[in-house]
Amino acid sequence: MRTISLSALQHYAFCPRQCALIHNEQVWAENFLTAQGRALHERVDSGEPETRKGIRFERSVHVSAEALGLSGILDMVEHELATGRLKPVEYKRGKPKPEHWDEIQLCAQALCLEEMTGKTVDEGALWYQQTRHREPILFSDSLRQETLAVIAKVRSLLESGETPLPVYGKHCKACSLLELCQPVLLKRDRSAAYIAALYREESDA
Ligand code: SF4
Repeated sequence: MRTISLSALQHYAFCPRQCALIHNEQVWAENFLTAQGRALHERVDSGEPETRKGIRFERSVHVSAEALGLSGILDMVEHELATGRLKPVEYKRGKPKPEHWDEIQLCAQALCLEEMTGKTVDEGALWYQQTRHREPILFSDSLRQETLAVIAKVRSLLESGETPLPVYGKHCKACSLLELCQPVLLKRDRSAAYIAALYREESDA
């Protein structure tokens, strides 16, 4: 089974085409938003593990879960020394969003930790830079099911080897691949091809 990067889940949530371009076609470009996100993660990444009030804070934790077919790097894992409980913590540049993709990404991290340690991970947290607050996330059965369903969708997209056609939307303005993807141009090309086909059908009739 192909191992999928945890970051593919986030890219898929943003745009399935972006996910395929990055993870199958190895296209990458940096814009202001990805640079900001990278800077935030680099700040989180730096620093040795530290222990405060019985909790060990492990940064940039590499995970690889064979059965799930997922691997990646977690921003932080809090390890409660007295109980052995593990809690993934993910840092986000923006603020909480109405869709719960951030929760799904965090839950996928928890599933990786569970597979690797054999321990139940029942809670994690999202930390939002813009609103500077930490949101506890419980890994309920429904969130777990939803996360597994998303992992299956991403796997099927990437294993298909197909790159979906662009669907232009306001999210494209924030996409690091806008220049390379050219969603407006491709849409125009497809419309032109469609009209040409219609004319052909009419003249053949
Ligand atoms: S420009 Fe738009 S359609 Fe193209 S990859 Fe980015 S978000 Fe997707």
